[in-house]
Amino acid sequence: MRLSFRCSIPLLVLLLAALGLRGAERATPANWSAVDEESMRHFQALLRFDTSDPPGNEKPAVDYLQQVLQAEGIETRIFAKLAHRPNLVARLRGNGSKRPLLLMAHTDVVNVDPKKWKHPPFSATREGGYVYGRGTVDDKDNVAVALMTMLLLKRSNVPLDRDVIFLAEAGEEGAVQYGIQFMVEEHFSEIDAEFCLAEGGSVVRTGGKVQYGSVQTTEKIPNRIRLVARGVAGHGSVPLRSNAVVHLARAIANIADWQTPMRLNETTRAFFERLATISPPEEAARYRAVLRGDESGAAQEYFAEHAPRLHSTLRTSISPNMISGGYRVNVIPSETEATLDVRALPDEDMPKFIEQLRQVINDPAIEIVRAPGHSRPGAPPSRLNTEAFEVLEAAIKRHYGVITLPTMSTGATDMAFLRQKGIESFGIGPMIDSEDGPKGFGAHSDQERILEEALHKFVRFHWDVVLELAARKN
Ligand SMILES: [Zn+2]
Repeated sequence: MRLSFRCSIPLLVLLLAALGLRGAERATPANWSAVDEESMRHFQALLRFDTSDPPGNEKPAVDYLQQVLQAEGIETRIFAKLAHRPNLVARLRGNGSKRPLLLMAHTDVVNVDPKKWKHPPFSATREGGYVYGRGTVDDKDNVAVALMTMLLLKRSNVPLDRDVIFLAEAGEEGAVQYGIQFMVEEHFSEIDAEFCLAEGGSVVRTGGKVQYGSVQTTEKIPNRIRLVARGVAGHGSVPLRSNAVVHLARAIANIADWQTPMRLNETTRAFFERLATISPPEEAARYRAVLRGDESGAAQEYFAEHAPRLHSTLRTSISPNMISGGYRVNVIPSETEATLDVRALPDEDMPKFIEQLRQVINDPAIEIVRAPGHSRPGAPPSRLNTEAFEVLEAAIKRHYGVITLPTMSTGATDMAFLRQKGIESFGIGPMIDSEDGPKGFGAHSDQERILEEALHKFVRFHWDVVLELAARKN
């Protein structure tokens, strides 16, 4: 019995090879419920490390990841500009016939106000089908899922056409000099890849029904611009036309009234095209108006009022968010200042844009200063006609039964650094209920949570995508 069983294994392999079954189909874990249990264990362990940034003490989370990976015999390396803010790189080797696939996720989280949380923010409490904690959807979900994919790949010994690299990076939430910027500038060969999968997408459910998957393929570029108004100082009892407060206020009002030019790129064009196909007629008509370009005024106005994110998606946007000036009521100040948060389209020509801004302000008393700050580099959108996007799109269809919308995020992610280096990068994520953010449970919110079911589905989806992209094809 035993002998014949042994003999049958090579026979089975031959049979499978003859049937042309690929690695992907052979390697599916036999016991998904054990995988679910393990995913949850690692996820909760990661959530329980307080990696709030600032100060961003990512080391305990990285030590945990390293120990789990090494226990399975996966090679890891640590790169740290600051000892307590390390980045971890793990690599599974392929035969080199394709360039590597990078799985990137950040281990730091934004700060919390513990008083606002029902469950302590680093408790990873499970309740009612959810896991609560800072980082549950930004970005320890991606950390845990990438970890699981690495473990499953190693255990199932799948032959790979390309290296699969896992980068658990520090500092995404505002300290990129210790994380992605450091890795790109000083250790790029460790993470260089053809494709990257990271945060920034999701599978959106509304009213309990899955609507679409979103894959982030590009993002806007943050710019900080200061307006400095200068006038003559004087006694408040004698008003002056040159009052710097008045000039600054007028400049801001002009900017607020300025509808910056609308422009689509490959991503946003496909986004509106596809969104129109799954929207009620009235909404679809607005998306199609935007695609046609002409007669889009009413649609744009509607977005400005009711869908500000879509409005921002169409243009380089300006939000005046800081203003200062004056120090006592009876003194006309000689200088006042405002800071604008400008989110540029990926292909924006900033010097030209600032020239337009100057014309809109139309006031020689206002100086426009491009302020340095934590910024991310601009790069063209990742392309849709790539193997990676097509695999993601097909997997979203298979796992969730819905269409994929490529998206340009209005906020910034660390993929900007990778796109600038030529890595085609795609933001993915778990299923989320669109009602959850407005209820205050989203990323960066006063509470944060994920559906347990969403985590488990994300693990299966991720595994499937990585196998499709990396497992040996013949
Ligand atoms: Zn994030």
